[in-house]
Amino acid sequence: MNSYVRMFVWMGITGAMSFLLIHFFGIVIGLAFSFGIFILFNVMMRRRALGANPGQMNFSVTYRCIACGHKFKGGMCPRCGSKMRKPEF
Ligand SMILES: [Zn+2]
Repeated sequence: MNSYVRMFVWMGITGAMSFLLIHFFGIVIGLAFSFGIFILFNVMMRRRALGANPGQMNFSVTYRCIACGHKFKGGMCPRCGSKMRKPEF
């Protein structure tokens, strides 16, 4: 929900910027500029979203050992050494 609001804010900003660019440079150059800026913002936002999510997932995720039911964080069960695990949130 929050990211949607931010996206609309960015769309508003890029819209205003494209309007100004078209006003100053004419329709062709202005549209080209605004399109480039819009793509740049999109890439930046998508990269930030992709960068933030896996880090948060790693912090919050814990695993339950399938073999002995021990709850732990990390690669393998510290109690029985099994790598068979399922994630719990
Ligand atoms: Zn175990």
